[in-house]
Amino acid sequence: VNDNILKTMSRILNAMTAATYDYLVIGGGSGGLASARRAAEFGVKVAIIEQGPWGGTCVNVGCVPKKIMFNAAVHAEYIRDHKDYGFMVEKKEFNFSKLKKARDDYIKRLNKIYSKNLENSKVDQILGHAKFTKDKCVEVNDKKYLASHILIATGGHPVVPTLPGAEYGITSDEFFELEKLPKKAVVVGAGYIAIEIAGIFNSLGSDTSMLIRHDKVLRTFDEIISTSVTAHAEESGINIFKQTHTKNVTKQADGLLTIETNNCKIHDVDCLLWAVGREPNTSDLGLENVNVECDSKGHIIVDEYQNTKAPNIYALGDVCGKFLLTPVAIAAGRCLAHRVFDDDKKNLKMDYKDIPTVIFSHPPVGTVGLSQEEAEREYGKKNIKVYRSTFTPMYFAITEWKEKCHMKLVCLLPEEKVIGLHIVGLASDEMLQGFAVAVKMGATKAQFDQTVAIHPTSAEELVTMR
Ligand code: FAD
Ligand code: NDP
Repeated sequence: VNDNILKTMSRILNAMTAATYDYLVIGGGSGGLASARRAAEFGVKVAIIEQGPWGGTCVNVGCVPKKIMFNAAVHAEYIRDHKDYGFMVEKKEFNFSKLKKARDDYIKRLNKIYSKNLENSKVDQILGHAKFTKDKCVEVNDKKYLASHILIATGGHPVVPTLPGAEYGITSDEFFELEKLPKKAVVVGAGYIAIEIAGIFNSLGSDTSMLIRHDKVLRTFDEIISTSVTAHAEESGINIFKQTHTKNVTKQADGLLTIETNNCKIHDVDCLLWAVGREPNTSDLGLENVNVECDSKGHIIVDEYQNTKAPNIYALGDVCGKFLLTPVAIAAGRCLAHRVFDDDKKNLKMDYKDIPTVIFSHPPVGTVGLSQEEAEREYGKKNIKVYRSTFTPMYFAITEWKEKCHMKLVCLLPEEKVIGLHIVGLASDEMLQGFAVAVKMGATKAQFDQTVAIHPTSAEELVTMR
């Protein structure tokens, strides 16, 4: 009894001393920032807690610096083709440090802009690591906070495998700290990050290898994507070691690395990069104190409204392990702010169907909807009609370097509703968004065909397929 009285007294004392908010957001990344600022529009008292730089993964070690590196790699490809277009320009020197400094300066500007935006939105900024306490508060730097509603948007971090010498490798986080271009880079993994970073290394001039466990990269995507991206990567000079499992990594006397696998030994590696997936930031949050439940991989379990098992505590974005994409975290964050604080949108929830995504490989990939395999599994093979096209984009008509574009439409019979659209080829990244609108609206193949083509583009192929 005494214990209980003490606990209650301490809770009351905490409540009296703790700062209180209507909405407390843990994690100042894509989802958290979007949700906090949208909530503040409804006149409620909001605070956001961040342990690192504002902007989270996307801004600091994800989409943004990655896209700058992708752009740099695209420059290298244009230089390759300059001579064919009559420009006698040679790639004399590539100044990696100049590129890194410009990229870092841009990110620092973005960090400041995100903080300023919070200030403008009247969202309080709390710096430090947040943890739930036994008395159901959120503690940051020994100070306690209470809130009517709490959002967990703490994202994730890259996985490092457990094998001897794994610590000699880096992850995508440290990729952005590299001061010079590696001479010999080995990327382990076969997903988004592996193919994007291997493509950057390769185009910028590193001798690049990928170690993959199966025969193709991007294995979970439509076959037209996995097959053609694997082929493009090999044609562009990446050595892909298939059916390969890394066994150990050792440091040579000269400081370079040797990587031993089940079927090869690679010496003199100056950059080994693990790109074998990401795991959620949930282990040091004190979730056990508030009964927020996680699955076996540590992802927070939420319902379709982003509710966790604990009342008035929500979670979204990468920490939930579903569609690890910035616009998904942002959209979910905004939906939640409306649902909780906007009387006009009490039932709003994120629609996870037909999410378009681009992989910034070389050439890039754009994909939305179901793969052929998924569609046939869901609707039966006889109800699916597939249109395919492979052609050489006009850009390559006069270049020595040739690169094909591959497209596929997956249609549901009888009306031929387009339920999957997959593109691999130059400019697919910029082509996809508009077509994703059409797919989201439920457009049919006939409606695609009724749209007059824009000539000469690669995109026109999508409205003229037979
Ligand atoms: P995050 O952006 O990770 O934000 C979580 C924040 O919470 C972090 O800032 C972290 O410091 C903070 N935090 C964690 N724990 C605590 C704590 N206890 N207390 C206080 N703060 C805490 N997506 C795309 O859509 N397009 C792309 O091109 C793309 N490229 C990517 C490239 C790479 C290399 C990577 C790694 C990811 C990429 N992504 C891309 C994915 C995208 O970055 C994420 O999906 C997105 O950032 C998720 O947002 P989030 O808000 O869930 O988490
Ligand atoms: P992914 O889940 O995309 O890919 C990781 C892949 O690595 C797996 O698919 C698996 O492929 C392979 N793998 C897993 N474990 C091992 C292992 N032990 N050894 C060798 N290979 C292994 O994770 P990423 O880290 O690449 O990216 C995380 C997420 O971030 C992505 O899913 C995406 O949502 C997001 N992202 C988005 C980007 C974009 O929008 N452009 C860019 C970058 C990231 P297999 O089973 O075939 O071996």
